[in-house]
Amino acid sequence: MRSRTGRFLLALLSVGMVVPLAAWHDRNHKPSVPLTPAVFRPLQKDLQKHYLTLFKESPELEFSSYQIQQMHDYLDKAKSYCVGEYKNLAAKRKSHIEKLKAELHNKDAKLSRSKRRKLRCKIQKAELLRSEDLVLARHAIPIAYANKEAKLDLIQQWPSDLKTIKQELADGAYRHRRWGDVQDIGFRVIAPGQRKDIKTGQEAVRQMKESGLMPPPVRNKKVVDYVKSVAEKVAAHSDLHVPLHVTVLNSNEINAFSFPGGYIFVDRGLLNAADNEAELAGVIGHEIGHVVARHGHKLMERQTVAGIFYQGAQVAAMVLTGGIASIGTYYAIQYGFYGLSMALDLRLLGVSRQFELQADQLGIQYAWNSGYDPEGFIRFFDKMATDEGYVNGVGWFYDHPPFYLRMKDAMREIMFLPKKKRYIENTTAFMRMKKELVKVNARAKKKAKNRPSLHRHPQGCPAVHKVEYKAGEPIETLCHLPGGYTGKQHEHHP
Ligand SMILES: [Zn+2]
Repeated sequence: MRSRTGRFLLALLSVGMVVPLAAWHDRNHKPSVPLTPAVFRPLQKDLQKHYLTLFKESPELEFSSYQIQQMHDYLDKAKSYCVGEYKNLAAKRKSHIEKLKAELHNKDAKLSRSKRRKLRCKIQKAELLRSEDLVLARHAIPIAYANKEAKLDLIQQWPSDLKTIKQELADGAYRHRRWGDVQDIGFRVIAPGQRKDIKTGQEAVRQMKESGLMPPPVRNKKVVDYVKSVAEKVAAHSDLHVPLHVTVLNSNEINAFSFPGGYIFVDRGLLNAADNEAELAGVIGHEIGHVVARHGHKLMERQTVAGIFYQGAQVAAMVLTGGIASIGTYYAIQYGFYGLSMALDLRLLGVSRQFELQADQLGIQYAWNSGYDPEGFIRFFDKMATDEGYVNGVGWFYDHPPFYLRMKDAMREIMFLPKKKRYIENTTAFMRMKKELVKVNARAKKKAKNRPSLHRHPQGCPAVHKVEYKAGEPIETLCHLPGGYTGKQHEHHP
């Protein structure tokens, strides 16, 4: 669902308006991005709504292009400010870490053993917190703002886009869209040579296991069988011509990914986040779409599997030796916050903007062809983007196609599909799986507690209190920006 190209670039590009935090809190000091409250409030309220709600409501909304432009400007500045704040924090930590390291390596100081250990623990803690700041600055905050921008675009552009779609429906032009021959699903050749990818996929699975980055599989048979049955059903109504291999990973990450040749991985976190079978089927359909269109193959022509995993293996090695340096580290600590997707080179997964849009289209078709409500995919995406997004689901979004384009294309495809009388949204099997999942979650939580982790590794350092961006928390709260709804003060890193 995602990729990482350009994440470092993003970090470099988003410097800008770094205003001292105090300025925003000072009652006498007006924020340098004033907005007319009358414009600001209703619009900002709309930006918190789901994409699906906005698709319905936007034709009725009346904001002038001046108002929209004002909001764009505000979001732009707010993002730069917020990103800048966390980058400053990371920079401060970096110099702090350097100081601690100098202290540790000062030969004249003759530090006692326990003093040295304390210093090491301090360094470790600062490295972890710095990695979190960087994830926020590079990914979470830009994603949160990209989402708001996309909703502004939706409010502005959907009414006229909708007209175009209706016109295409009326004059039959929609039948000539790419892969518009949905009545032939199963007989279509989206990309010739699927079978050639089986070996690559096998090799990739082996290498990923070897790198030590792959979370363990979920062992609960009922959960695994259920996910497999949904995947098989969707596959049977798709253009997939290779055997399907489904693995459920015991990771908190809200994600799913596929390897070439029919290897699909679904994280436990995604099962937790799905509210019904149609949502799950939509996500699985998307992954099958990647396999069918041979995206992994197309992107890795000049890259060997070993090369792709090299970086991941290095991260794993670093973790084992206690040297902490990257986002991947954080992932390795607990299998799942920022995700495997951040530690891997995602070329193997076939992630690119164009390919995401293609997989969305195919996935929606496959879910629909299997009898599921094709809006399930949008609902899930919507939930991630609006309620759950940013951190837990960071892997879901990065190097995304622009959100509005993605949502619009998905909606368009759904409108072009022949309507069915009834769609499956949920099943009792899904509800049963959810019940089993509660047990799996509890066990994973208990295990995480007992597992020696980097928080204490390698010399029994005390656990680091994590400050994480809570799901559903308005981004403004995180950065103390005016316009946050809760007015609640977010505690800064201790
Ligand atoms: Zn994808």
